[in-house]
Amino acid sequence: MKAIAVFPKSREVRLLEVTEPRLETPTQARIRMLDVGVCGTDREICAFEYGTPPPGSDHLVIGHESLGQIEVVGAGVTRVRPGDLVVPMVRRPCPHAHCPACRRDRQDFCFTGDFTERGIKEANGYMTEIVVEEEKWLVPVPRALRDVAVLVEPLTIAEKALIQLWDVQERLPWECPHRPGRNHGHCRRALVLGAGPVGLLGAMGLAANDFETIVYAREETPNPKSLLAEQIGATYVSSKDVPPDQLAARFGAIDVVYEAAGASRVAFETMQALGANSVFIFTGVPGRKAPVELDTDLLMRNLVLRNQIVFGTVNAGRDAFEAAIRDLGIFLERWPDAVRGLISGRHPASAHRELLLGRPTGIKHVIAFAGGV
Ligand code: BGC
Repeated sequence: MKAIAVFPKSREVRLLEVTEPRLETPTQARIRMLDVGVCGTDREICAFEYGTPPPGSDHLVIGHESLGQIEVVGAGVTRVRPGDLVVPMVRRPCPHAHCPACRRDRQDFCFTGDFTERGIKEANGYMTEIVVEEEKWLVPVPRALRDVAVLVEPLTIAEKALIQLWDVQERLPWECPHRPGRNHGHCRRALVLGAGPVGLLGAMGLAANDFETIVYAREETPNPKSLLAEQIGATYVSSKDVPPDQLAARFGAIDVVYEAAGASRVAFETMQALGANSVFIFTGVPGRKAPVELDTDLLMRNLVLRNQIVFGTVNAGRDAFEAAIRDLGIFLERWPDAVRGLISGRHPASAHRELLLGRPTGIKHVIAFAGGV
């Protein structure tokens, strides 16, 4: 069967023939991969900036955003059956007894760093035809989401952030007054930095919770991302029109920043303009560039005098996967064109070079293995 892999030593990215995996325990399932998303992390791995092959291997099969269909299950599998659609989780626990997070299946909060991530760190990923996985790491998906469920994994980033947002804001009276027909965030304003798939899916999550949502990105309006933001009731603002330190003056106090651009300068400039009790959530992983000068006294004064919280979040647990599947259904009902519009194209595996090494336009590109290689 075919797989798309990187060879870090020889600096190659190629489609190669690999042996089909077999069930090794009764609690595993064999999954035919249908859709695999291409993301910034994959492109960084293909630029050899990130990613590690499994121990003893010269290559890493990439791909971690996926949707598959169960073909065969082991005798001990109880929650999924052949024919079911599933999204496999990405991270697997570290082996250490002293890691409380991994020992409680919360490897997304691993303490030791010795976790593995399929398609990213020391474990082969999903850009291939067949995958074998423990049932425990598979999340079932309703059939109605077949066309869009490849967006579940990037949406889990926002879901994990939102779960934490509600948790940390329990530190103060932050909840909105109850209004019939309105969701939790209706009295709060959220700013999304970046209009890639993680940003736009985060904007959908915030808008669905009735936050007043502003999407802030580089490209001038109108563009496909600004139109999509408007379809979900968000306001799109180009950084060419409003500098980051003017955002609060223009729109009013910002309660939450959901950063999904991986651009540190803009992020910290935005942070300087935040008001009382606000939360700044980082999800982007910037490449290392030259140091940036910052007014650290101002940042620190604001953090203290305005009770601000800054946190970073990576990967996602089962709760966020389940929330993503539930919310994707809600988004699809509410904004069908916007959700479908996130997927810019489905391509055969042979298109991998252009998608991973080129500069494809659009929002989310998907490799469809079931469509033939
Ligand atoms: C993936 C996460 C992963 C992170 C860091 C992201 O692209 O969505 O699952 O933890 O990269 O490797």
